[in-house]
Amino acid sequence: MKLAVHGVSDRGLVRPHNEDCLLVEPDRGLFAVADGMGGHAAGEVASRLAIEAVREVFEEIPEEGDEVIARIQAAIERANRNIAERILSQPECRGMGTTLVMCVTRDDRFWVAHVGDSRAYLLRGDAIRQLTTDHSFVNELVRLGMLSREEAARDPRRNVVTRALGSGAPVAPDIYEDRWRAGDRLLLCSDGLNTMVGDDEILRIVREAGDDVGRAVDELVAAALAGGGEDNVTVVLAAMVPRAETDEQDDQPEDTGVIEPPEPAERPLARPDGEDAPADC
Ligand code: CA
Repeated sequence: MKLAVHGVSDRGLVRPHNEDCLLVEPDRGLFAVADGMGGHAAGEVASRLAIEAVREVFEEIPEEGDEVIARIQAAIERANRNIAERILSQPECRGMGTTLVMCVTRDDRFWVAHVGDSRAYLLRGDAIRQLTTDHSFVNELVRLGMLSREEAARDPRRNVVTRALGSGAPVAPDIYEDRWRAGDRLLLCSDGLNTMVGDDEILRIVREAGDDVGRAVDELVAAALAGGGEDNVTVVLAAMVPRAETDEQDDQPEDTGVIEPPEPAERPLARPDGEDAPADC
């Protein structure tokens, strides 16, 4: 078995900037999605700082599970601190922050950690399961029985996160641990996917793409755009696939490392909101 990972980020059809950032490093067993927030493109800075922190802390993946968990906490702390320090040195970045969802894999084990409302889904057998609980205001209301899931999806407060990186105050990630099974798919995404595409549709698209994770990712992003593309959409899909006897040479995927979202000039905005001044931070 080998791990195949593919990731794509798209600005969507409405937002002037792409404030998401992603990391795809299948050889290291590391991938992540961060969804930045903050006016005038400061969100781009925050999400990038978070992804860089993950990359620095996980130069290699430790063998011991306890050490992996300690490193996850260290990465979260470093990301939080780096963003808070940037805000102090550049007050125009005030208010910026980011979510983070990340996966670390070592041999047949994997760990998923998150802060905020970016999600991880495990697709195993015929089922899709959300591994993460959104750290969001509307999800709290759902949990308390004050809002249905359908109401939450339409609620104007749905973008309000209750946990994020950037304040500098201590932030605890939720951490999930499991072992890979043959055929598993693990999906990380920003809310630009799951607010536009339902879980059943995600499952259908991934299953129909078979072992072609690149196709699945492209079709998921296309589905988010077809659904309205109201937000930046970032999707990273990992699969445990059979290792073909002949594929030793072409194991290396085209896109690895920190993937810069493409320049937004190719497609006009469906609804320009004028907030297009780039941040200096
Ligand atoms: Ca978002």
